[in-house]
Amino acid sequence: MSLITHLVKLQKIDTAIMAIEELQGDLPSKVEELTTTMSQLESAITASKSRLTEIELEIRKLQTLEQERKDKIAKLQDQLYLVKTNREYDALMAEIDHLKGQLDEEEMRELELSEENDQVSEKLETDKTENEEMSQQLGTQRHELESRIAQTEEEHTKLVSKREDLAKNIDNPNLSLYDRVRSAREGLAVVPVSNQACGGCHSRIPSQLEAVIRSGERMTQCNTCRRILYWVDAEESS
Ligand SMILES: [Zn+2]
Repeated sequence: MSLITHLVKLQKIDTAIMAIEELQGDLPSKVEELTTTMSQLESAITASKSRLTEIELEIRKLQTLEQERKDKIAKLQDQLYLVKTNREYDALMAEIDHLKGQLDEEEMRELELSEENDQVSEKLETDKTENEEMSQQLGTQRHELESRIAQTEEEHTKLVSKREDLAKNIDNPNLSLYDRVRSAREGLAVVPVSNQACGGCHSRIPSQLEAVIRSGERMTQCNTCRRILYWVDAEESS
């Protein structure tokens, strides 16, 4: 096999290794993201529950208070028939009005609380449903992550040892050139010429250079991106 054929193969292996690493790199962060969202949801659920308890307690207190006011108002209204002077009558009426005002405020507050109760209950139900869905999703993703790691680990190991064997066939200067270009060009060092252009950066390849690449006589790099170029036939015939 020629140098360029070896380099093309090396690139394929490296691309496959990179894909595996990317695949594994994505799932753990997804699992982590889900776990974080779920713990936020769980805190929201706890907060809603404790707010609902508070509301219930406050409503009960208000209802007791309202009953007391109503009883007192009824009692005072009975006393109205017994008063002897206008002053006494006015004083009683003023007290009744005052109590009615307080009662209005309490009833208003009770209404607000019962509206809040409805909102919080609704949010609680939504959060609970979402949490359940996420919990299922998380279970699936965790499972997938574990099996993907198990699956790809074997493939990864195989590819790495294949790469080592293949790299032995390439001399050091060319291998280090390949590695340099690869790390500078997002993992892609060897590209085919396609439509008279570099398969990496799409710069036009002069026809003279194309002839050299086609012949496979010597290793050729793109003048723009420095990637190693090969003729597609070379890959197919190997
Ligand atoms: Zn290029």
